[in-house]
Amino acid sequence: MSENDCVFCQIVRGEMDSEVVHDEEEVLAFQDIGGQAPVHVLVIPKQHISSLAEIGDVSDGVAKRLLEVAHEVAKKMDVAESGYAFRINNGPDSGQEVFHLHAHVMGGRKLEMP
Ligand code: 5GP
Ligand code: ZN
Repeated sequence: MSENDCVFCQIVRGEMDSEVVHDEEEVLAFQDIGGQAPVHVLVIPKQHISSLAEIGDVSDGVAKRLLEVAHEVAKKMDVAESGYAFRINNGPDSGQEVFHLHAHVMGGRKLEMP
């Protein structure tokens, strides 16, 4: 998929609406459109990579910021203490639907392993 067709690249470019939770130079966090928990935010690198298979294509700093922003979002959404899941789907068996790397930050209810 090219970056032109990628829905998350369109969100990064402002061509598609989203409810932004956190925005910085290289990382964006926004509400998942199909929220599966009271808190369900997606954290993405603005650079298009399809999955963790390409994590080596982003800088170490960006990779680290993805993790830090996930926790900052959890704090902002008030689930850092009650707990939250951080999940990255990769490839067919995971159910990955959008092929722009994204981390789900989910909380606000009891979560189970799938
Ligand atoms: P995946 O299964 O690829 O890990 O998850 C993709 C997630 O992206 C799903 O939870 C879905 O609800 C969300 N999603 C898909 N399209 C859009 C969109 O256009 N805007 C937003 N905010 N979320 C989307
Ligand atoms: Zn993309």
